[in-house]
Amino acid sequence: MQFVVMDLEWNNAYSKKANGYINEIIEIGAVKLDSDLENVDTFSCIIRSQIGKKLRGSVKRLTHLTNDDISSGVPFTKAFSVFRKWIGNEETVIFTWGDGDIRVLLENFKYLNGIKVIPFLDKYCDLQRVFQRLFNCSKGQQTGLLTAAQMLEIDPEMYIHHRALGDSMLTADILKKIMPEGELFPEVVDCGEEFYSKLLYKAKVIRNIDNPLVDKKRLCHVCETCGTACDQLTAWKFHCQFFRANFHCPECGLDYSVGVRFKKLFDQVEFRKIVSVIEPNVSAEEESE
Ligand SMILES: [Zn+2]
Repeated sequence: MQFVVMDLEWNNAYSKKANGYINEIIEIGAVKLDSDLENVDTFSCIIRSQIGKKLRGSVKRLTHLTNDDISSGVPFTKAFSVFRKWIGNEETVIFTWGDGDIRVLLENFKYLNGIKVIPFLDKYCDLQRVFQRLFNCSKGQQTGLLTAAQMLEIDPEMYIHHRALGDSMLTADILKKIMPEGELFPEVVDCGEEFYSKLLYKAKVIRNIDNPLVDKKRLCHVCETCGTACDQLTAWKFHCQFFRANFHCPECGLDYSVGVRFKKLFDQVEFRKIVSVIEPNVSAEEESE
């Protein structure tokens, strides 16, 4: 088994055909590692743009690529067929940092080649997910590559940042630090039908409180100060992604504003709760006197 750590750079380009913006891939960078996680080879290729002729200012600033670079690069189809040959026939796990690159790559294959799969992808792993699990990062927040490097005491200055090869080399060094010997991460997945359905699935916030996916047990509140079950003062109202209601603690007299969100993901419902104490409104009390 071998490992390929891949990073892509993209440019947000307007497409008349799609009647909207598409993230067009402009560079591939990758590092190949053997089963002992030793570097075997690197791959770097600038891709000739077909959708956007000009780089966005932010992309230019970040990557230092120029419009000349992307007009003289290798066409997408050719570049990825060379990349596929470079990967070779050995069983391979492909790693990226976050699944953004994989989503964009799939979108590019669909738009430019009319296919709904990534031809060279057999086993895939989102290393960011692995990292977030190992370091108990909060699920709602994505750990950036630089932050991860710093947490692992890797000096990011050693790499050319925001270029595909530099970022893939940094990601490969993160992999070396966190991969247990002779063991694959549980996050490594086979890229079959389920993988693509999951990737294309659009998470949706549930807006109707009567939806059977709303766990009714979550629709209560226990006082954070004294642990007493609170009384619900107002009905649940959907506003800005959350069902919101006010609660009152009979024990310590605190009022709470509680928000709960149920988000339907591919194979689970994600739950989030936000709570704040409602400060007693002095002027309102004065008025009632
Ligand atoms: Zn209380």
